[in-house]
Amino acid sequence: MPWYDATLTLQDGMLIFPGDPPFHREQVMSTASGDPFSLSAFSLGTHCGTHVDAPAHYFPDGDTADRLPLDSLVGPAMVVDARGAPSIDARLLQTLNLPDCSRLLFKTDNGRLLRDGVFSENFVALTLDAAEWLVSHGTLLVGIDYLSIESAADLHGPVHRILLAAGVIIVECVDLLDVPAGPAELYCLPLKIAGGDGAPARVVLRSDR
Ligand SMILES: [Zn+2]
Repeated sequence: MPWYDATLTLQDGMLIFPGDPPFHREQVMSTASGDPFSLSAFSLGTHCGTHVDAPAHYFPDGDTADRLPLDSLVGPAMVVDARGAPSIDARLLQTLNLPDCSRLLFKTDNGRLLRDGVFSENFVALTLDAAEWLVSHGTLLVGIDYLSIESAADLHGPVHRILLAAGVIIVECVDLLDVPAGPAELYCLPLKIAGGDGAPARVVLRSDR
């Protein structure tokens, strides 16, 4: 089965949520400058690039990135083709007749914006009733192909809160442009950051479709 890398490349100038700390890498040692080896330092926000949101993103006593269950992060997933939909709501989820809702990744019209590093306020996001629907259907992990799972207008994060309160792991900036819709094996491995409210993750999928 072929592998698909759904991870954004971490690099200077990459798209980030407006106001978040940017990614920056600095060359500390360089063989090109005569140093015996190359070595660099980097800094970034916990929600930079492809990343997970941990419950601690909204809840002070919530689980942190280093404590997220591997059972939720790795396993069978469904890449859902939601292209053409202006938002993902409970009605849409109901009509999809998903056989398994454990791990869902939404491939939306955001895909091109994410790949091209373009910010738009009008991205496709989950509605409140979609978040409630996922919680009631036992979802462990939900991902989307843009900076946030919820509309930028919702500053207080009601969609995040519903999902994270129920222990649903949120994965954002998942680059699904080349990933075929349908069942896949998901490997989402966030950096083990103590106390992390989120963490950059390598997200890869295997699919035979
Ligand atoms: Zn986030």
